[in-house]
Amino acid sequence: MKDTAKHQGLRNQLASVLSQKGITDKNVLEAIKKIPRHLFLNSSFEDYAYQDKAFPIGAGQTISQPYTVAFQSQLLEVKKDDKVLEIGTGSGYQTAVLYTMGAKVFSIERQNELFKSTSLLLPKLNIRPKLLTFGDGYKGLPNYAPFDSIIVTAGAPMIPQPLMAQLKVGGRLVIPVGEEGQAQIMTMLIRKNETQFEKHEFGEFRFVPLLENKN
Ligand code: SAH
Repeated sequence: MKDTAKHQGLRNQLASVLSQKGITDKNVLEAIKKIPRHLFLNSSFEDYAYQDKAFPIGAGQTISQPYTVAFQSQLLEVKKDDKVLEIGTGSGYQTAVLYTMGAKVFSIERQNELFKSTSLLLPKLNIRPKLLTFGDGYKGLPNYAPFDSIIVTAGAPMIPQPLMAQLKVGGRLVIPVGEEGQAQIMTMLIRKNETQFEKHEFGEFRFVPLLENKN
């Protein structure tokens, strides 16, 4: 688990690539500069870890492209101590970004293999989410609701109702919506009151699918 000056240099370059691509939130860019992404990947991909690309992480899943992580994180407008629910822990990289931005992170993963490996990795890097849990993110975490924001890191055919119900008034739900095998539309709902949500759409992205039940 080595992090060197060379890695730091590559991270700084990645942050400037992301800012050229339109990421403006300083808090997001600072987190990208701090987090050793190469340690979230299988060592065979280490040399490519600071390219703006997605990579396989096992169990048929991928670590999201840094631009996508930054874009979703920016939409959340994370403030210190915000309670953030993440669906799809995967490698834990997005979890680490949110934690480094000052959020209290609760994250759900449905693949037991990834849940176990990421639960071991994050404490070694001093990244301490409030909760990592093995379960079905379609249901959210009713016992810990409401959340300031919710981020879904897999493509969903529709917006799960339980997640809308677990959002605070004023809170944001960021979710890529679209059928499996097609591009998803990055969608943000802002909760206006008990019953109303304002919808914003931000163009096409590609994610692995949000699947029901755990595995
Ligand atoms: N945030 C991750 C992205 C991983 S890809 C990262 O930065 O590495 C999406 C993840 O969502 C996969 O790990 C997949 O297993 C998980 N997933 C898919 N459906 C899910 C569900 N219903 N509940 C929880 N996790 C789910």
